[in-house]
Amino acid sequence: MSQPFDAIKKKEEALLCRTYGRYPLAIVRGKGAHLWDVDGKEYVDLLAGIAVTGLGHCNDEVCEALEKQCRKLWHVSNLFYQEEQLHLAELLLSTAHFGKVFFCNSGAEANEACIKLARRYMSVVKKRNAAEIITLEGCFHGRTLGTLAATGRENLSRGFTPLPEGFSQVPFEDLGALENAITPATAAVMLEVVQGEGGIKPLAADYLAGVQKLCREKDILFICDEVQAGICRTGKFWAFQLHDLKPDIISMAKSLANGLPMGAMLATDEVARGFETGSHATTFGGNALASAVAAKTIEILLRDKLAERAAKLGTDFKEKLIAMQKRLPGKIQEVRGVGLMIGIEIGESCPAVWKELIDQGFICSLSHNTTLRLLPPLNIDEADLNAFAATLEGILKK
Ligand SMILES: *Cc1c(COP(=O)(O)O)cnc(C)c1O
Repeated sequence: MSQPFDAIKKKEEALLCRTYGRYPLAIVRGKGAHLWDVDGKEYVDLLAGIAVTGLGHCNDEVCEALEKQCRKLWHVSNLFYQEEQLHLAELLLSTAHFGKVFFCNSGAEANEACIKLARRYMSVVKKRNAAEIITLEGCFHGRTLGTLAATGRENLSRGFTPLPEGFSQVPFEDLGALENAITPATAAVMLEVVQGEGGIKPLAADYLAGVQKLCREKDILFICDEVQAGICRTGKFWAFQLHDLKPDIISMAKSLANGLPMGAMLATDEVARGFETGSHATTFGGNALASAVAAKTIEILLRDKLAERAAKLGTDFKEKLIAMQKRLPGKIQEVRGVGLMIGIEIGESCPAVWKELIDQGFICSLSHNTTLRLLPPLNIDEADLNAFAATLEGILKK
């Protein structure tokens, strides 16, 4: 039996490191796009565990795959060949132009793999002294020391210095600044095609094309962090496919195994030459259980054409929100996003609106205290999205 919310909150404060500012909710159960708290109250979940449960909570087919695999094999380490990994690798490689996969356990680790591969490719294959990674202002690449350095936000790295060297940042969507920042010491440019933690900011198509062209001209690597925007969320399998880009390396995690912790890096055959036996490793990465669950997740996403669904649903929903913006002058500053990755900028009243949404049974995230961030499961019912829109309109009208 669950304890009352206040008791849970108090216990959490006593037991866990003070790293999270939590929502005033203790969740006990989930199904599809719906969650239930300790008091039995039901919510529509438009956050999906921060873009993780793309197929919804406790998806029947994914549960079945997990149950089957958990009686067969969980973990033996990467000292052994495991067909589960190979099946998942084939599925992931079928989605784009890459040739090789490296499995790990989280988004930060997937980005660490990208950074390490880029540096080692430059050093070992190109025989160049080029280790610097350039990222964009407003980006988010993770919380390990390396990815914190890549993220370059003072408020996140305070008290954790010194961070690893070899990272620099350029202003958002400023191609001239990027060109000036590239030197013979540059290994790669790394970016999110749609900045997620930055508040749902899609990068412009011509800027992205310009970045890729610069990378080719300067013979440096182009890395896309697909941890949040990847795996069908934006309406294409990968966000870079919205703009016909061909990055050399990408990272993924969040929705890869629909809630089991898992990450991966994909690289072209050429760039993957940077790794050899012993150059990088992780104990858990791609274990049989996580791989089997991820493979089932990817199979369902492809079979049910959930990228196309995210595109269609997202376009319709965004139109609805923009119509609402017109009906309620001054209440909504901007509606941004692609597919089912949507930001509604509301300004200073946003925290109150967000809290009222929770009280009325709708969960989304509050980004920078100004923007509602929606990352719903890709198979969410249109009725749930419409109910959210109607509730939001009611709140904004008040
Ligand atoms: C969440 C996120 C990460 C970090 O992923 P973790 O699994 O939390 O380490 C990295 N990049 C992007 C774009 C993300 O959204």
